[in-house]
Amino acid sequence: MEVVRITPRGYCHGVVEAIRIAKRVGAERGGSEPVTMLGYLVHNEHVTRELQESGVALVEESDRMKGLDQVREGTVIFTAHGISPKVVEAAQARGLNVVDATCSDVTRTHDIVRNLVEQGYHVVYIGKRGHPEPAGVLGIAPEHTTLIETIDDADAIELPPGTRLAVTCQTTLSVWDTQAIIERLVQRFPDIEVHNEICLATQERQEAAVLAAKDVDCVVVVGSRRSSNSLRLVQVVQEKGSKPAYLVDTADEVDPAWFRGMSRIGVTAGASTPTQLTRQVIAAIEAMDQN
Ligand code: SF4
Repeated sequence: MEVVRITPRGYCHGVVEAIRIAKRVGAERGGSEPVTMLGYLVHNEHVTRELQESGVALVEESDRMKGLDQVREGTVIFTAHGISPKVVEAAQARGLNVVDATCSDVTRTHDIVRNLVEQGYHVVYIGKRGHPEPAGVLGIAPEHTTLIETIDDADAIELPPGTRLAVTCQTTLSVWDTQAIIERLVQRFPDIEVHNEICLATQERQEAAVLAAKDVDCVVVVGSRRSSNSLRLVQVVQEKGSKPAYLVDTADEVDPAWFRGMSRIGVTAGASTPTQLTRQVIAAIEAMDQN
């Protein structure tokens, strides 16, 4: 059985930078004041645990404003997924020291939405309900943005005649699903201004996984169930690569029964997955082969 290491995989620039910021702030301020991350800094349990062990506390509430109520003093770190400006203002008003670890690619979508709304557009935002990234973007101008998830949602949009319309999206969605939703919106609203903001890291990892799926029997994706981009890797391998795909958080979760009768196993990893975990999964699959 051969393990095919799909490239690129694993950490993206946004995750590397967010971890660097949180570690630096924890080391510099952790001895003198509480340092708290408002939600998982990046969607990976191992990264989060390591930060907690280094003295950065975690407050996990799907509603970031409610989470902020639990941060009484010190420094609050906003996560790589971005944050609503209203939460930033509330943190500053309470006298907290604010550190923003938002990925620059997410910040770019915030800037796009802010500029479009200032120009009088209504913005359709394609994203996953309940994920922190859409919550942060929609917080910019809730009355001028509409969150949609599916083609059916695109069909259901009703807006007053003459509304200037634009569309943008969460950075970690399926490239293909998002394109299909955008195409439907363009059919319905030919003048819509399109800003496809799926980040390069997401796009490259999905395209590499789908391409590799042609030459392997199945793909194992190393990543957390919380991680949008890891879940999307599983989805695109199944739907676009037409091969089985399995998500594992650690090597312990690899099931030898998946590989019965197979000779080539692809391995990739989500953008928030530590390299060490992926190495352990590859080693576990290779060890199964020897038994
Ligand atoms: S997946 Fe994309 S948007 Fe998310 S942190 Fe990485 S580079 Fe930034």
